[in-house]
Amino acid sequence: MKNVLLILSVIGIIANYSCTTQDMALDRSNMDTSVKPGDDFYIYANGGWLKNNPLPGEFSRYGAFDKLGEDNQKMVRTLIEEAAAKPGENGSIAYKVGTYYKTGMDTLKIDEQGITPLNEDLAKIQGAKTIDDIQDLISEWHTGSNPVLFYLYGAPDRKNSEMVIANLYQGGLGLTDVNYYRDQDPKAKEIRETYVKYIAQMMGLAGESQEKAAADADLIMKMETRLANASMTRLERRDPHATYNKMTLAGLETMSPNFNWDGYLKELGLPGLEEINVGQPEFFKEVSTMMNDLPVDNWKVYLKWNLVNQAAPLLSSDLVDAHFDFYGKYLSGRKVNRPRWKRVVNSEDYALGEAIGEMFVEKHFPPEAKERMLDLVSNLKLALGDRINTLEWMSEPTKEEALKKLEAMNVKIGYPDEWRDYSDLEVKNDSYYKNVRRAAHFNFLYDVNKIGKPVDPNEWGMTPQTVNAYYSPSRNEIVFPAGILQPPFFYLDADDAVNYGAIGVVIGHEMSHGFDDQGRQYDKDGNLRDWWTSDDADKFTKRAQVLIDQFDQYNVLDTTKASGELTIGENIADLGGLNISYTALQKAWEKNPPEKEINGFTPEQRFFLAYSHVWAQNITDKEILRRTKEDVHSLGRFRVNGPLPNLQAFYDAFSIPENSKMYIPVKDRAIIW
Ligand SMILES: [Zn+2]
Repeated sequence: MKNVLLILSVIGIIANYSCTTQDMALDRSNMDTSVKPGDDFYIYANGGWLKNNPLPGEFSRYGAFDKLGEDNQKMVRTLIEEAAAKPGENGSIAYKVGTYYKTGMDTLKIDEQGITPLNEDLAKIQGAKTIDDIQDLISEWHTGSNPVLFYLYGAPDRKNSEMVIANLYQGGLGLTDVNYYRDQDPKAKEIRETYVKYIAQMMGLAGESQEKAAADADLIMKMETRLANASMTRLERRDPHATYNKMTLAGLETMSPNFNWDGYLKELGLPGLEEINVGQPEFFKEVSTMMNDLPVDNWKVYLKWNLVNQAAPLLSSDLVDAHFDFYGKYLSGRKVNRPRWKRVVNSEDYALGEAIGEMFVEKHFPPEAKERMLDLVSNLKLALGDRINTLEWMSEPTKEEALKKLEAMNVKIGYPDEWRDYSDLEVKNDSYYKNVRRAAHFNFLYDVNKIGKPVDPNEWGMTPQTVNAYYSPSRNEIVFPAGILQPPFFYLDADDAVNYGAIGVVIGHEMSHGFDDQGRQYDKDGNLRDWWTSDDADKFTKRAQVLIDQFDQYNVLDTTKASGELTIGENIADLGGLNISYTALQKAWEKNPPEKEINGFTPEQRFFLAYSHVWAQNITDKEILRRTKEDVHSLGRFRVNGPLPNLQAFYDAFSIPENSKMYIPVKDRAIIW
């Protein structure tokens, strides 16, 4: 959740390689050469892969990215199992890593315990008599990272990026997007009806009679709909100014008078907080109104529902299955739940992420990989600098500022310089659920302790074993965890065309986030400050609109269209990443000229094929619809066929004629960075 707010990541996937020789990267059997490259490049590059890698039942989307993610999970499991085999003393890292895993895998005990790990909290809800009691419980749960109703977290102040400030952010919904509560189309209505049935089912599993469970489900839907109607949509939240509303505690109390903010902040260990950023003021006004006009009994139902729904994946199999049936099967189209070990490894990645990361790096990240990456990043930086210098549409004063921002962009590769200290994290043999809650509490304290202090420049927003990368606008930095620096994204020994097409574009993608529709609003120091001339800002917006209009035309499924507006930041980053990496590749070739052809492909062709293989993916129809509503990234098909026809080099590489389906006339192409 927090990472989603703070960073802009790339979700990459790549073809199914089991061998590290460079030509596996462009295995012809992954392609479908019966399709012309200019008609559907995604299928031309990936048609064979899509046929040969049918969607496994546990996935709603499966691409080579997910394959690498799976490989990484297996490596992490091995590390955890090794720790579990030699746990050492109680309290050692190996003991914590091993014990957490053992409690998570002990399904006999978990099933036997059923819902009883929640008993203490259920009794507290039962005992609540007043609205004050309700608010006390909300405050208490927030310290255990059971963030019911809304979120509080620390992050760099967007207008004073050296300091960490407390942020309040909307939440409180069981469906994963506010539009599910608002939309009036038949699909949205069906989702709401199914959700209400699911709530009733879960309340039944928590011991309620059928009548009571059904009545509670209706009540939850009404309460969440009120919250959803006061929430900002994903599109509205893309404007960093709209979610920046810094105020004093007195200001917050005036705006949202029926919630005991003073008591809440004291409980969280933040007494005397001078200022706080309120992401969505209207939401917190509605929370206050609801505290006043809803009876205590309604809030008791609401808390119980949240407790049960959040805990369900960690409890006995009846609750796990019901939760999966709704979120996994119904909303995403997955057929079966992931094997238990994968779920526990994921949970442990959150609980003890850097402890595992330290083991991971030692075993799986050679120092040469870091050197090669540093080299790539510096070439990409030079290339973007050249491109900014020669941009036709931008005036000199804005170029100067852009170049300063690029120059100041920090780079982190592999793993943090200083590892987190896990001595205060308690891991016990008593229950998996309790271990997860203790880890959440530990992470909460870590987070909240940063508030009011200077930003720690060494901190990472992802663990080293993560297969992903990100740009942080407040820190003006790009970060590449060790997890993504492996084949097939990154080969120590491959030809430049392949590395620049895969990891090179990922680097360029993250750099471009510093200059996308959101990132460009932050300056070189990570502050929200307008450094653009108004004329250049207008030109940027017009150019971005060309890309929005292009994506708005793409059909994702039947008559459902892609959302150009929701995905514009990521699409700018993909287009920028391709342009920057391609420019950098030309520079690399000046020093080391490429071979004319490898495996029948020119170096230019290899660049575009390597890029496209990254996005090969099979996906369920439900997941297509869900992501089109919720994901700021375009679907794999459009990450290929969307940006490519804007690049002249793409047409040249494959001699694509003007009458091709993908062809876009020069005057209609999007060129931003
Ligand atoms: Zn991105």
